[in-house]
Amino acid sequence: MRIVADLKKCEGLGMCESMANDYFEVDEDEELVSVLDANPPESDRAHVYAAVQACPVLALALEG
Ligand code: SF4
Repeated sequence: MRIVADLKKCEGLGMCESMANDYFEVDEDEELVSVLDANPPESDRAHVYAAVQACPVLALALEG
């Protein structure tokens, strides 16, 4: 599985980070997300998926 972030859509709102700060970090100056680990283990699927779903501007996707 792979986390894909569309930085053209991201508005730095931070929902993803608040749901899963082990995978997402928001730069408050740039208002952009960084994906800390784009290839989560299968055991973290539900945790990562919840954070992906929390993005209000649909900037995140989970592939695979
Ligand atoms: S929740 Fe969406 S808009 Fe907010 S920082 Fe994460 S990816 Fe960006």
